This record gives sequence, structure tokens and C-alpha cells, in this order.
Amino acid sequence: MITVSNLNKKFDDLTVLESINFSVKKGEVVCLIGPSGSGKTTLLRCLNLLEIPNAGSIMIGDKTVSFGKKAPSKKDTRELRNFSGMVFQGFHLFPHKTVIENIIEAPLIVKKKKKEELIREGEALLKKVGMFEHRDKYPDSLSGGQQQRTAIARALMMKPEVMLFDEPTSALDPQLVGEVLRVIEDLAKEGQTMVIVTHEMSFARRIADKVLFMDGGYIVEEGSAKQVLEQPSEEQTKKFLQMIE
Ligand code: ADP
Repeated sequence: MITVSNLNKKFDDLTVLESINFSVKKGEVVCLIGPSGSGKTTLLRCLNLLEIPNAGSIMIGDKTVSFGKKAPSKKDTRELRNFSGMVFQGFHLFPHKTVIENIIEAPLIVKKKKKEELIREGEALLKKVGMFEHRDKYPDSLSGGQQQRTAIARALMMKPEVMLFDEPTSALDPQLVGEVLRVIEDLAKEGQTMVIVTHEMSFARRIADKVLFMDGGYIVEEGSAKQVLEQPSEEQTKKFLQMIE
């Protein structure tokens, strides 16, 4: 589903991703873990071209985009973005739109489907994430967990092949983390392909088919959740896991 080859990313002179190679199969859940500043968010943002890599290539579905001197074309960018849905740390809902209006907005504009049909689809998704009874509320009257579950439904409305999560629970009060993780776990059970940046190690252990440990812009270690989280082979991984326990 995704193949990332020799990806590099610099911000001015600062190299933040170096020779990144990995792949994600259809239906797989891949968790990116590692210390703050190791490049996890930048890597995730590269996958839907919120950041433009300096070198290497990304293949998602049947689309491959290579990076170099020239910026990717609008068409390539659009096609690659169509494969993925992104959920951010801060929920980024439209403040002046209700829950249901938030989630039908993008497909209404992009997919040119009938509004009634989108509302039906949207309501089904809101039921799935436990937000149906809040469909007519505005974001500022919702808890962080409710906002994030709405943001997940909004990303799912575009029927992405891959869901990308950037620390989806790190802005939440501890008592609201579980409700969001449960929604993501349900998606995993349904076979949704996902790449998740997370600090929630027990969640990663439960959900991930593959864990990538990043440090200093490199993927230092890659393997099953059991391998990387319980029997890490690299010193950097061991140190990181000891530190966060
Ligand atoms: P992580 O998600 O693992 O915490 P990030 O991908 O956010 O790491 O950051 C990796 C490195 O890139 C850090 O040194 C960070 O300061 C730097 N960085 C991230 N975004 C930018 C940016 N827009 N401009 C300059 N430097 C950035």
C-alpha cells in the first residue's frame, strides 16, 4: 500500500529525515515511536505532502512520486493526498460549523455528491465514533475527546486508503484518551490501513502489526510490536523504552 524509499527531508541546513525506507501493507497498522524531535511527525507529514521531501520517493496505492530539485506537480500532490486521511494532535475542526457540517464539508466540495447522501453517510460514521447525538453541536461545546472523534469521522468521510494519525491523544486530558484509542482500535479491527505516531506504548503493543523506532532522523529499528517493544535489539531503543516506563 505504501512504499517509502530513501526519503530525505531538510529544513534549511538541518537534516531531519535521512535515508528513510519502509513499507506498509494493506490492512497493516504501523506505529512510529521515538524521542521528541526524532522526525516522526515530519515523516508522517511527508506521506501526504504537508512537507515536501528533498529526495527519495513515496508510493501510495498505484501512485509514485519522486522528489528532487523540482517540487511535485499539483496533480501528483492531489493524487497522493487522495489516498490518505490525516488526524492531527489539535483537532482542527471548523469552529463555525456543527459536527455534521464539519464532516460533510470536504466531500461536499471535492466529491460533488448530494448533500442528503453525505448526511446519511456522515451520520453512520458519527454513530461509529459515538458522536451521533452531538451531530448539531459546535466544536467549542465538545470535550477534546469528542472533537478528536469528530476529526476521525471527518477524515474517514473521504474513504482514504490509509489513515495517518499524528499523536492523536497527546492534547487530551488523561481521562479522555481511552475513548479516542478505542475508536482507532475499532478501525484496526475492520482492517483499516493506518500509520500512527504515538507515545502510548501499551496501545502500540496492542494495535501495531509493525513498530518503527526513530531517533535522530533515522529508523533505528523496525519489527513486530513484540520484537521492538519487548525484545529491542538496538541500544537506542532500549534506552528510550526504559526512559518512558
Ligand atoms: P517528532 O515528531 O519526532 O517530535 P519532528 O518531526 O516534529 O519530530 O521534528 C524533527 C526535527 O525537525 C526537530 O529538530 C524539529 O525542530 C525540526 N522541525 C520540524 N518542523 C520544522 C519546521 N517547520 N522548520 C524547521 N524545523 C522543523
